[in-house]
Amino acid sequence: MEFTTQEYPCSLCNSNNTKPLVVKLGFPIVQCAGCNFVYVNPRITNEQLQNIYQHNYFKNKDYGYVGYELEKRLRIKNFERWLKEAAPFMPVNKPVNALDVGCAAGYCLDVMKAKGWNAEGLELDAEMCINLEKDGQIVYHRSLDNFETKHRYQVITLFDVIEHIPVIDAAFKQLSHLLDADGIVIMVTPNHNSFQRKLFRKRWFQYKPIEHIQYFTRQSLAVFARRNNLQIIHASKCGQYGDAHFLVTRLKYYHFIFLSKLFDKIFQLLNLKNRFFYTGTGSLFVVFKKM
Ligand SMILES: [Zn+2]
Repeated sequence: MEFTTQEYPCSLCNSNNTKPLVVKLGFPIVQCAGCNFVYVNPRITNEQLQNIYQHNYFKNKDYGYVGYELEKRLRIKNFERWLKEAAPFMPVNKPVNALDVGCAAGYCLDVMKAKGWNAEGLELDAEMCINLEKDGQIVYHRSLDNFETKHRYQVITLFDVIEHIPVIDAAFKQLSHLLDADGIVIMVTPNHNSFQRKLFRKRWFQYKPIEHIQYFTRQSLAVFARRNNLQIIHASKCGQYGDAHFLVTRLKYYHFIFLSKLFDKIFQLLNLKNRFFYTGTGSLFVVFKKM
């Protein structure tokens, strides 16, 4: 696929001065000389990004997710765990209207509905939206900044989404607008300050410069939040559930070929193919409230 690229200023401080950090798939990942925010520059244009997400994002081999549905069981366990972690910060004694931004196959919507919540999703992938509607989900084929509704939400989730969004302040402004006075926003995103990123450096699997165009830390998220009337009320390290296949594939990705073969053998011998484990991925779990 041919990509059209363009230079963009730093989302956090608007500076154009950068220091090179790593190059991946031919894309420079740079650090802002003014505020240290990390982003891909030059990167695929906003217009082309919209196109990528609109059509077959979940069936592409160059980027996106292949086999998203195959990991349904694991993804559901992730969403259950993350919603449970945010539960102490939820508004009490209120019916919950929830919005899942980038709802993909709707698994998080299912988890929310099982809690008795009224759950709605935003999804850019056109084919996915058709399937979601067939499944009876309430889904809007809209980006976050183009979404309008009279609803205010008690819970808004962005699980592995904010790093894909081009204009971060517009996203935070919209979150603040859509959020109920005592509602919460829950985010999971790759953490550029994570041990995994520092350990694996250029090979960190979260460096996916076609689609992960900006890389956050707790500190940068706090700045975006604050200037849009939101504040962080909880943050922690975050991983995801993986099965034997997930772990072996991830070890291979990091070139631990011997280890990946060894684990593969152990999983086969002990018949652990269908077991799953919660493993660190160098991500950050954050809950926001209005200021
Ligand atoms: Zn900056």
